[in-house]
Amino acid sequence: SASSSKPAGNDDSKAPLPKGVVLDKDGKPCRTCTSVASWRALTKQADLKTANSNSTSSTGKMAASTAAFAAAATPSPSERPSDCPPDVEELGRSTWTLLHSMAATYPEKANTEQQANMSGFLKFFSKLYPCWVCADDFQTWMAHPSGQNQPKLGSRKEFGWWMCEAHNEVNRKLGKKEFDCRLWEERWRTGWKD
Ligand code: FAD
Repeated sequence: SASSSKPAGNDDSKAPLPKGVVLDKDGKPCRTCTSVASWRALTKQADLKTANSNSTSSTGKMAASTAAFAAAATPSPSERPSDCPPDVEELGRSTWTLLHSMAATYPEKANTEQQANMSGFLKFFSKLYPCWVCADDFQTWMAHPSGQNQPKLGSRKEFGWWMCEAHNEVNRKLGKKEFDCRLWEERWRTGWKD
């Protein structure tokens, strides 16, 4: 989550990062961990900082820093061209589509090999997901010491329900509405009943 990110590299000579900007482990902003609105606030801040340092008049400097603050405090709306690299939200939506679709096409009863394949996929997925803060939290959730969050892979129903609960865990963290898991199959496999 953004809250578990560290403002590494954000030394005193720099303005505070706009809300929601998450840094990568190398201290640079992580685009796939940050929403497009926060990303825009960051790029505006950088543009205005350049304008500010180029400005010779103190009035110009003040205007630039006020505008930088305003840009950071009120990110622009998130409409954007469709051929840009994904932000954390677009990446998330696409990934949930993949994950729930994998559950929807999972065998009704999975044999040992099918279960091992999915278990391996989830293990690597949770390490390689391109938003590292998301991946860290997801791994921690799966590895809960009680064992209660381990993937349930015996059947499609079990796995689909588990995936819905995993998604709800992220929904809760982000303050989104929880999804009613009794409806996961209609949402992701059969389509809504009339
Ligand atoms: P999404 O949450 O992307 O959902 C897409 C659609 O799935 C919804 O419209 C709904 O129809 C359906 N749906 C919703 N909930 C469920 C459910 N429980 N079961 C089945 N179907 C459901 N973003 C962050 O900012 N911080 C994070 O730490 C973070 N962690 C993530 C971890 C993972 C593993 C993934 C895949 C994504 C993560 N995201 C994170 C992205 C986040 O979950 C959302 O994808 C993103 O905020 C866009 O949300 P959305 O409202 O468009 O709908």
